Amino acid sequence: MSIKNNLLEIKSNLPNNVTLVAVSKTKPIADLLEAYESGQRIFGENKIQEMTTKWLEMPKDIEWHMIGHVQSNKVKFMAPYVNLIHGVESFKLLEEINKQAFKNNRVIDCLLQLFIADEETKFGLNETELFELIASEEFKNLKNIRIVGLMGMATFTDNQNKINLEFKNLKIIFEKIKHQNLNNHKIEILSMGMSGDYKIAIACGSTMVRIGSSIFGGR
Ligand SMILES: *Cc1c(COP(=O)(O)O)cnc(C)c1O
Repeated sequence: MSIKNNLLEIKSNLPNNVTLVAVSKTKPIADLLEAYESGQRIFGENKIQEMTTKWLEMPKDIEWHMIGHVQSNKVKFMAPYVNLIHGVESFKLLEEINKQAFKNNRVIDCLLQLFIADEETKFGLNETELFELIASEEFKNLKNIRIVGLMGMATFTDNQNKINLEFKNLKIIFEKIKHQNLNNHKIEILSMGMSGDYKIAIACGSTMVRIGSSIFGGR
């Protein structure tokens, strides 16, 4: 299968309200261009340096999404161009994104990452921390970031039931935060689902899936 065919196949499975992020981490520019030529305009990367190199080389009508764990000291490299940061999980990181966005005269869209799996390796806030964060005065002072939704990763398992429960749990939190009045923020994106579990994620209410290996092959 070619990248183009993989993309067509996946897109035929996506409802209209679900956005596809093509996760191109570790893949060469030639592969990204093939996806681009097939019409893909949203790419997800998990390393800031690698994403920046690709941003410099690729056409300028691409949306770049940072889907990986973000180190504060590297935010400045992506602040001029990044379209959405999926993995925000601390006030400290939000503060740094806000600062760098301000320097670039931008407002940067962010998703807050929720911890829904039972693995120690996955990052994210729990529900209590999420509501504390958005209720805090410090948060209200950040004018150069906009929270547009939530992101989460299910446990890496073959147990479909477990994945289903984790995604459903995130959807419930998403519905709660959506109905809060958060001034300039607008909660509308629920980023959940990867190659192995995106169909379950969509059934649970995902509006954005992050798919890598099913498009570009294994890494
Ligand atoms: C790598 C990655 C993906 C894509 O994973 P695939 O299994 O290759 O589809 C999605 N989300 C995050 C956060 C990732 O790091």
